[in-house]
Amino acid sequence: MDITAISSGSKGNAYLISDGETTLLLDAGVTFKRIQEAAGYNTGKIAAALVTHRHGDHTAAIPQMTKRGMKVYAPQDTADKFPGVEPLESRDTMTIGTFTATPFDVPHDVPCFGWLVDSAHTGERLVYVTDAEYVRYRFSGMTHLMLEANYSREKLMERARAGELPVKLAERIMQTHMSIDTALGFIRANDISGSEKHKTKRNCRC
Ligand SMILES: [Zn+2]
Repeated sequence: MDITAISSGSKGNAYLISDGETTLLLDAGVTFKRIQEAAGYNTGKIAAALVTHRHGDHTAAIPQMTKRGMKVYAPQDTADKFPGVEPLESRDTMTIGTFTATPFDVPHDVPCFGWLVDSAHTGERLVYVTDAEYVRYRFSGMTHLMLEANYSREKLMERARAGELPVKLAERIMQTHMSIDTALGFIRANDISGSEKHKTKRNCRC
């Protein structure tokens, strides 16, 4: 799997992934120009964009994309906000080129998806989770995990107690985003042996 991080964080989230046959965009929270640059000015090769939720740092380029007839999949409320976006329900699986993509619901302050992406071309399995308090699903055979974790609970509480951060903001962060400890727990609870098996298979010269 070839992964290009265009941008990550509250200023914008967007990644290109490719299995050598099909290219997908994960989130579209940057200017369309940045997506064009990352795609080598060949946005025609992007088979679809898989969007997690409606916040601007995940959706900024959607109007430009749908205007150009590019396929964009997202939760229902994101489709309501951006005409031309195709709404999906959690666990609706679809095939896009050599990829199979399945959204799954994750807790945030608006409806939000994580995405499970399987490649029929390479046998790789990627899980993408961005704004989410936690993930209630478990996955077997992952070869790639893109998981956002953006705070330490202790540090956040310390800062709130010291008056460096409004308590309400600290509470909102803790209820809508993933702590480093929760991320570690998710990694431990999942089967990431797929990555080792995959390496072995691909490096095998027999
Ligand atoms: Zn968000």
